[in-house]
Amino acid sequence: MSSKSQNIDMIIFDLDDTLVCWKNGGELFPDVQETLASLKTIGYRIALASYNKNAYYYLKKFQIHEYFDFVVIEEFQKNFKVQFSLDSDNKKTLLQKLLNVAQTLPSRSLFFDDQWVNVCSGNSIGIKSVHVKENGFTKEMLYSSLKKYETLK
Ligand SMILES: [Mg+2]
Repeated sequence: MSSKSQNIDMIIFDLDDTLVCWKNGGELFPDVQETLASLKTIGYRIALASYNKNAYYYLKKFQIHEYFDFVVIEEFQKNFKVQFSLDSDNKKTLLQKLLNVAQTLPSRSLFFDDQWVNVCSGNSIGIKSVHVKENGFTKEMLYSSLKKYETLK
């Protein structure tokens, strides 16, 4: 990856089980730091859309907060856990808020999330959405997605 895609302006990430692996008490997946640094250098805008109310704390803890232009999280509510139910469509709301703030077209955004329901939410509003598998986000995943969308207008 050496130059910015003409079709993609912003890369959006989920946090839990996409960038951060919680199995061993919490650590970044191996490619995350390097890939974010490289995306930033190339000039992509980088965003986080997470249900995790402590998302910004974790970005700082893992020392990746400075890569993010936008961080959109759901504020804590008493019924917080309800938002994780499979028929929840709240990630759509988070993503729409993000698009408004960033002033970016959904079609120019690429979104990575480990939950299929969130991938569907992203796709439903026109964001190019990629399902992250159990090994988390990888740079190969990013490269192949950018390549795919470089040719698909
Ligand atoms: Mg997740």
